[in-house]
Amino acid sequence: MDTSAQSSIADAVDDARRAFAESRSKPVRWRLAQLDALETMLTHQTADFEAALQHDLAKNPTESWLTEIGFVVGEIAHTKKHLRSWLAPRRTRVPASLQPGTATVLREPLGVVLVIAPWNYPIQLALGPLVGALAAGNTAVVKPSELAPATAAAIAKYLPAYLDEDAVRVVQGGPEETSELLTHRFDHIFYTGNGRVGRLVMEAAAKHLTPVTLELGGKSPVFIDESVDLPAAADRIAWGKFLNAGQTCVAPDYVLGTARTLEKLAPLLAVSIQRMFGRDPSTSADYGRIVSDKHFHRLSAFVPVGTPGGPAGFGEPDQRTRYLPPTVLPRTAPDAAVMREEIFGPVLPLVEVDGPHQAIAMINAGDKPLSLYVFSNDRSVRKTFTYGTSSGGLGFNVPVAHLMVPDLPFGGVGGSGMGRYHGEYSVDTFSHQKAIFSKPLLPDTLAAVYPPFSRVKDVL
Ligand code: NAD
Repeated sequence: MDTSAQSSIADAVDDARRAFAESRSKPVRWRLAQLDALETMLTHQTADFEAALQHDLAKNPTESWLTEIGFVVGEIAHTKKHLRSWLAPRRTRVPASLQPGTATVLREPLGVVLVIAPWNYPIQLALGPLVGALAAGNTAVVKPSELAPATAAAIAKYLPAYLDEDAVRVVQGGPEETSELLTHRFDHIFYTGNGRVGRLVMEAAAKHLTPVTLELGGKSPVFIDESVDLPAAADRIAWGKFLNAGQTCVAPDYVLGTARTLEKLAPLLAVSIQRMFGRDPSTSADYGRIVSDKHFHRLSAFVPVGTPGGPAGFGEPDQRTRYLPPTVLPRTAPDAAVMREEIFGPVLPLVEVDGPHQAIAMINAGDKPLSLYVFSNDRSVRKTFTYGTSSGGLGFNVPVAHLMVPDLPFGGVGGSGMGRYHGEYSVDTFSHQKAIFSKPLLPDTLAAVYPPFSRVKDVL
């Protein structure tokens, strides 16, 4: 990297640091004004953001609104509505031994936040964390993903035009620029992406003792039994899986069930896919494309070739447009290649188990998932999964949607990440909870514990 690129990155961090040092971002009025500006940006420039998402991922504009632009607008509205009450100092109980006194918890901003975003939901995952960072009174540097270049360019164009341009800086680029950014000191780093880079981020953060939130991925399993309405379950699984052509961190990765259940489910999934995207999803305006040639080749290796009309009758992969048909892989062996890594594409293996206990054993043998989905109306099965597994989130009879509930924390555990955000959890993530204790000097009830301790011992 040349020195001018290095110094422009340093300038971005310095600007954000100076704006914080001037206390510009601390007043709640400023925070609310920035959130208003962000909302105005998203609503005024919806068409440009939709076009960018169409360019980068062939996202349908309605999908872009539901999962990206409108999603962030909703997060802003929720935050604006509750921010003052979330920020109110909280009085807490004082034990009798320390009375009289008052104890308070105050959420104070951390400083400069670095947000590193991935390509799959390039608006939601860059601007959603920014909402929390600003609401908590921080300044920020945003690094969008180079793999969604049109969206990154739109973010870089509009954020400075609408928001405080010193307090919120955008740095564009890939691994080289991100590595350079990571040499600087931040007060919090919020990274969304794969675990390999997550480890690099944590290593760089350790040098400055900077806290991190790592929103990572992994395999999010589904377990299904026949206590549920299978056609309705197939619709929900197909929706969650094939949204954004399977490139969703919380998409169902694979399905576990008994042989009998999976035999019934497989054709129902084909029916759901056809209802959503038609006989030839390559002509559907609602079906996305794979982000890059690298991911297209990686995923194509999982798709059996030579079946007339493609693997499930939904057409053949097309390298030129990076179209990969929705693909269900029935009777997949638990040790198949497709089961050894996060799929992150429109390929859905069905894996046979003899019941919930074997499913739980399989899930617990791997990394803790970002999400786990259980399709069952059997209370004992639900309870067994609730207490017998650990995952970032748990959905009963519905995938993906838990992240749309504004008062639920969103984040992973173990291999799927650390930390959480959305709504009040974002304000928590980007704040320091300062403990404040105030005690009148007189009467000096603390004198009871002053040395000499031989006297104190008598009191105890
Ligand atoms: P990506 O390639 O866009 O990388 C993410 C960010 O890291 C980018 O900004 C990129 O520039 C930067 N980066 C890449 N290589 C780097 C390096 N060597 N050094 C420093 N920075 C680097 O996105 P990705 O990682 O392919 O994203 C997909 C993964 O993210 C999947 O595993 C998915 O499950 C996960 N994900 C998780 C969530 C969540 O909320 N938990 C959301 C979306 C995606």
